[in-house]
Amino acid sequence: MPARILDGKALAEKVRARITADVAVVKEEHGITPGLAAVLVGEDPASQVYVGMKHRATEAAGMLSRQVVLDADTSQEELEGLIAALNDDDAIDGILVQLPLPDHLDPRPVQELIDPAKDVDALNPYTAGRLAVGDPTFLSCTPYGVLEILDEAGVPTSGAHVVVVGRSNLVGRPLANMLSLKGRDATVTVAHSRTRDLAEVTRLGDVVVAAVGSAGLITAEHVRPGATVIDVGTNRADDGRLVGDVDFDGVAEVAGAITPVPGGVGPMTVTMLLQNTLEAARARRGLPRR
Ligand code: NAP
Repeated sequence: MPARILDGKALAEKVRARITADVAVVKEEHGITPGLAAVLVGEDPASQVYVGMKHRATEAAGMLSRQVVLDADTSQEELEGLIAALNDDDAIDGILVQLPLPDHLDPRPVQELIDPAKDVDALNPYTAGRLAVGDPTFLSCTPYGVLEILDEAGVPTSGAHVVVVGRSNLVGRPLANMLSLKGRDATVTVAHSRTRDLAEVTRLGDVVVAAVGSAGLITAEHVRPGATVIDVGTNRADDGRLVGDVDFDGVAEVAGAITPVPGGVGPMTVTMLLQNTLEAARARRGLPRR
């Protein structure tokens, strides 16, 4: 039987409507307008698209969106000076630096400089460390979106074996840490480029999450019948189409549920950035988390 399609776009609309309503409440009751600053260095076309999407979504939710665009030859000192200024800017609750940076800039010290109270992209090692010790502050947006999709679909993580393919600091590693938190309680396997017999490993999964960046890597033979498959990958096919890491047509024949690309995880990433910005605005003023 073909798999159930998990519609990330529809879920994103639903969650954004809730966030928009919550923003209206913090404005009305507390006079707070949550603010997000997105820093873009250079003119990478894909980064311009991503920052533009985040800007529109932030404004649509009723928040303040500040885009800071710097020349491609901006120095490390100038970039770090900007982060320090945004840390001190009370109108800004969340700061994100769009990656990749131009080659002459080192992202690590920039991420480490972002005030943990404003680290809505969750890439500061302090934020990642809080998650790693089981006491998270902000959750990385893409893995956070993956959890929301699983929850919405009614796919339990407690006691489930989840195989995460990919171990990047952006997706795979934080997702594995989130899934193994107390309360989430998944049994997690992390696979990567040195994993021997990937298909044998992924077939153990009640849930398989692909976060690799390799079109069509996960085929029907990688998936146990009835498993849930979440496709984080975004790749350009030869004909220009956006495709995931999962061979959608083949895997949909064996999986119980599957996310499409586009329209799966992608829309949820921006949505969880909005959620984190709202949470940052509340927390910075001593309001409880929702
Ligand atoms: P990344 O930093 O390049 O990491 C890729 C991971 O995949 C690495 O851990 C790598 O292993 C592993 N890998 C590579 N080839 C493999 C193979 N043949 N078998 C098993 N594992 C393999 O990428 P990323 O930033 O995590 O992004 C992954 C994908 O998700 C990309 O397509 C990206 O565009 C997409 N993405 C989508 C969203 C969204 O919102 N939809 C957000 C972020 C990223 P090693 O560690 O051994 O090298």
